[in-house]
Amino acid sequence: VTSVNVSGLSKSYNTGSGAVPVFLDLSFQLAAGESLALTGPSGSGKSTLLNILCGVEGVDDGSMQVLGRDGATLTADQWAGLRRRRVGVVFQDSNLMPAMTLEENVKLRADLAGRSFGPVRDWLARLGLAGLEQRYPDQVSGGQRQRAALAMVFAMGPDLVLADEPTGSLDRHTARDVADALFHWQRTQGCGLILATHDLALAERCDRRLDLAEGGQG
Ligand code: ADP
Ligand code: ADP
Repeated sequence: VTSVNVSGLSKSYNTGSGAVPVFLDLSFQLAAGESLALTGPSGSGKSTLLNILCGVEGVDDGSMQVLGRDGATLTADQWAGLRRRRVGVVFQDSNLMPAMTLEENVKLRADLAGRSFGPVRDWLARLGLAGLEQRYPDQVSGGQRQRAALAMVFAMGPDLVLADEPTGSLDRHTARDVADALFHWQRTQGCGLILATHDLALAERCDRRLDLAEGGQG
């Protein structure tokens, strides 16, 4: 079973001085349950690729299947449905609702995905957020918000997780604990995982690596 299948994908942005390519003819596959690290320097297109894979950014050329759905035929509503139920997205601005506590945010994610919240309560603790469940997002640190965003994704029980620098604002020790939790969760769920990272230690924990600086042929 293929989780993601990208073939000949090209993407450029229009700037004042013409179209600037981000990547040309990018191809890769991710099997169900596999993890892939996207590496490459800042500006190499990691975030752009994650945005494309969850349907918030379009492409110029090529084709892609995400969880068996043909990207070219999905409507905006269908993409939104996928993000609600099957494709969990952890981006840097973590999508926490400011007027809801961390626990309420996580519970909302579970509700939207039609999942039960019960099994998730423990994950807040496993992600080092025990005792912070009733805090509001502006009452915790950036790193704690990032972990709450991860708990939200666990809560929805997705088939594919797209994570942009999921440990980017954490100290080394916490980053390792969060990566432990993420990979443990991913293996037990058998879900696909694509993460963008500068952290080579994190990248090495993934089954495979795609280096966008090398034109995505890695
Ligand atoms: P990374 O995540 O690897 O740092 P990005 O995907 O953010 O890379 O950016 C890839 C390239 O695309 C960069 O050159 C960036 O300036 C450019 N880019 C990203 N988003 C836009 C946009 N909305 N408009 C124009 N250029 C953009
Ligand atoms: P959907 O797939 O339900 O449309 P999106 O991820 O596209 O969900 O988000 C819909 C809107 O709800 C966005 O504006 C998003 O920022 C906002 N939102 C913010 N936090 C949450 C949350 N915890 N749960 C659901 N939606 C949220």
